[in-house]
Amino acid sequence: MKKNTPSNSEEKTLKGIGVSPGIVIGKAAPLERSRATFVPRKVTAGQVISEVKRFEAAIEESKKQLEEVKQRILEKGFGQHSYILDVHLKLMEDRMLRDETIRMIQEQLVNTEWALKVTLDKISDAFDAIEDEYLKERKEDIRHVVERVLRNLIGRELRQIEDLEGEVIVVAHDLSPADTIQLNLQRVIGFVTEVGGKTSHTAIVSRSLEIPAVVGLEDITTYVAGGETIIIDGTEGIIVVDPSPATIKAYQLKQQRYRYLERELLKYAPLTSETQDGYYLTLQANIELIEEIPAVIQYGAAGIGLYRTEFLYLNRKTLPDEEEHVQVYKQLVQKIAPYPVTIRTLDLGGDKFASHIELAEEMNPAMGLRAIRFCLMEQDIFKAQLRGILRASTYGKVKILLPMISGVEELRQVKVILEDAKDELRAKKVAFDPDIPLGVMIEIPSAAITADILACEADFFSIGTNDLIQYSLAIDRVNEHVSYLYEPLHPAILRNIKGVVDIAHKEGIEVGICGEMAADPLYTLIFLGLGLDELSMHPLAIPRVKKVLRRSTHTEGEGLLKEVLQFSTAKETELFIRKKMAERFPEDFIQCKE
Ligand code: PEP
Ligand code: MG
Repeated sequence: MKKNTPSNSEEKTLKGIGVSPGIVIGKAAPLERSRATFVPRKVTAGQVISEVKRFEAAIEESKKQLEEVKQRILEKGFGQHSYILDVHLKLMEDRMLRDETIRMIQEQLVNTEWALKVTLDKISDAFDAIEDEYLKERKEDIRHVVERVLRNLIGRELRQIEDLEGEVIVVAHDLSPADTIQLNLQRVIGFVTEVGGKTSHTAIVSRSLEIPAVVGLEDITTYVAGGETIIIDGTEGIIVVDPSPATIKAYQLKQQRYRYLERELLKYAPLTSETQDGYYLTLQANIELIEEIPAVIQYGAAGIGLYRTEFLYLNRKTLPDEEEHVQVYKQLVQKIAPYPVTIRTLDLGGDKFASHIELAEEMNPAMGLRAIRFCLMEQDIFKAQLRGILRASTYGKVKILLPMISGVEELRQVKVILEDAKDELRAKKVAFDPDIPLGVMIEIPSAAITADILACEADFFSIGTNDLIQYSLAIDRVNEHVSYLYEPLHPAILRNIKGVVDIAHKEGIEVGICGEMAADPLYTLIFLGLGLDELSMHPLAIPRVKKVLRRSTHTEGEGLLKEVLQFSTAKETELFIRKKMAERFPEDFIQCKE
């Protein structure tokens, strides 16, 4: 990953991690400013001293932050870029900026924010009059400095998208799923964040909302003040800040081509996902929000392989009750019928938090009291959901999927609770499917290793590669510093998946993959060779994977898999597979350099 290079108003191209495909061009809207930014407010003579103190404290805080950023840059060996921070630190000391702002507060009795804005305007005008291009550019530096001070003055409130005008590209340090769904999504055309990786939940949510996104752009909020034009190329993981007219034109052409290809791919949506030698690999959709149902249908999914229900629990003050569960699931099941819907029970924790459920602060939330562990502890919450799922099962084909199962004991505990829930419904004479399939996610290494034990007691498996990779390779899936180690083709992962598939089939149960890996057409032939029954992915990805499947044979997949399993590293495997796929499907895969 290229380090972000701060410079001034000229075009800046930054490389991050593309997590949601597509190209958009729009205005930057940093999330961490509030609407109060530039609002004038009168202060009384008695308030002047505290107003000036507030200003000085914000300057001190800003200097401290800049020192910290500088330190981080130096530690990482990017010392050549630290000069810009020195410039900013110097500007914090600038007499004009400081004295003029304080003078305005004292003489005109206005709040600090307003005084700062007026001072900034004056300085900008002075810079505009300068002929020297280099000095002219320093105006941008002053603006960045002022923005930082302002942020510290008003606190880092989450700015609501309602406050912004037109279509915007949200730029934030991070976006939790809760933040994301709070936004007015009609206005948001793109996401750019400092942290995150391909499988972080920001990434997953932006994909499901079909909003192009690039994550892992470290320190981007420091360089984007708001209102700049930004291009996001979510496919390549690139953003361009302040693009030149020529660059905008080039990306507009690229965008047209991308849209054309998307339309072409859509032709595959209604076709079956069958290979030329008659192997049928079911392609299903992962969804988090009920609003995604039209996309599921449009992109040709044969059902829902993963409904992440935790989004039902987010951003609210009360828990969803049984009735609410039924209403949501019923809608989903009826709209997707005759295809099945796999409802995953609450997978809370890690980077998925609900505002009202008090989870203790843990040193390591990814390995803490989360998902099924939480549900087994809070059985009332769990049972309300199970009863809701059971009741919805009368409206179509429903399966229950359990997240984060680490061994068969948890599965057995769930079965007892599920039987209780069934008894409660029977007692009230409420209908449900008594044979509702109960599956487990294979996403913790211990579950993969004991798949033979689990397969005897589970109705199906769904391999969650996002977490399986995280836990097998010890790579935090939301930490951009280790994202380069997040290797789906690591031999450990491929062996793990192969072992699980073989065992499932030996025990006569179906097995699918519902992690992000399933969506990448680069791996489709490998999955075919492994003999998976299902792949579940974000709806957008389905036509592309279907296209590869329909032009391949199962035998070809098996042959390729044999070769793939010979490699000792993910890099070798990736090179090999990229080359093969580019030869095989030249219009869909780019030939890579050796
Ligand atoms: C996974 O871990 O692969 C998965 C599909 O679940 P989630 O991404 O919701 O943790
Ligand atoms: Mg998971």
